[in-house]
Amino acid sequence: MHDVLIIGAGPAGLSAARWCDELGLDTLVLEHSEEVGGQLLSIHNPIENYLGIHPHNGRELRDHFVEQTKDCEFDLWTNVEITSVDLKAKRLVLRSGEELKSIAIIIATGLRRRKLGIPGEDEFIGRGMIESSGDRQAFAGKDVCVVGGGDAAAENALLFAEVCPTVTLVHRGKKLRARREFAEQLHTNHCITVFPESVVHRIIGHEGVEAVEIERAGAIKPFQMAVQGVIVRIGFEPNSERFRDQLKMDQDGYVLVNGVQETMLENIFAVGDVANPLSPTISSAVGGGATAAKVIASRLGR
Ligand code: NDP
Repeated sequence: MHDVLIIGAGPAGLSAARWCDELGLDTLVLEHSEEVGGQLLSIHNPIENYLGIHPHNGRELRDHFVEQTKDCEFDLWTNVEITSVDLKAKRLVLRSGEELKSIAIIIATGLRRRKLGIPGEDEFIGRGMIESSGDRQAFAGKDVCVVGGGDAAAENALLFAEVCPTVTLVHRGKKLRARREFAEQLHTNHCITVFPESVVHRIIGHEGVEAVEIERAGAIKPFQMAVQGVIVRIGFEPNSERFRDQLKMDQDGYVLVNGVQETMLENIFAVGDVANPLSPTISSAVGGGATAAKVIASRLGR
């Protein structure tokens, strides 16, 4: 029996853990990955807008967070798989068979990248499906397709155009959703071609990616375009499905919380991106973790 169980060790979960520890709460953090940090681990650019520090990338900020928790007494378990959750009873069961109970639970499970759900997308992971712009040197001299029309797609197209002879950005809408600064750079970069109102139907190859099948608005039939790399940047979705029947959520699966990060259930909190569709920022996540910890501590008289 713990005071607090925290599910997820990204910025929100780590901040909550740091604050719970400081406030004298017996806390266990459960992280399904091998490493803590959540989405910070996939930020490869400098982080300019997190006050107090100017890290070169997300991993460096993660390292600072870990450094600031190293003297804390909370427990942290990584590689944890939760098999069942009963939020009302505040009871979790792990794959190992272990049963955990607590007075409060803080859900900090974050977001994951949305997938297209098309043939080839999973099959070619590590063989042409590009996970991160940090891998772009491996695609130097190759032709690449970027799917999506938001800031992430635009930014990736621009980054890959630094090393690739051609980058084709395929997006389903009429207009790009990316900010004007990115959109202007896309249209003036001679390596980049933009296909609006277009959909990628499948990713084709043998040993690795060889082509994508694209359908363009107005075209009679889909066509194949030779590429050796594909990067999909079509937004994010919350890691909330395991709580779906137990909590109120919006239509996109974001957990609904009140002003102190509490869900519809007493002493069940949700912090960070999983509960914050409007401001999925590191700053908000860290603040939300602190808020939940403070509320729990005051209820427990700490
Ligand atoms: P966005 O939600 O901004 O854009 C998603 C894009 O993917 C849209 O063009 C959308 O199309 C398209 N899309 C969604 N679902 C599908 C689908 N199933 N099939 C095809 N296309 C689809 O997501 P991003 O990942 O671009 O950005 C997420 C957040 O991160 C944003 O707030 C963004 O501003 C931020 N960001 C900031 C950066 C920076 O500041 N440097 C860099 C990268 C991201 P449609 O428009 O038709 O719905």
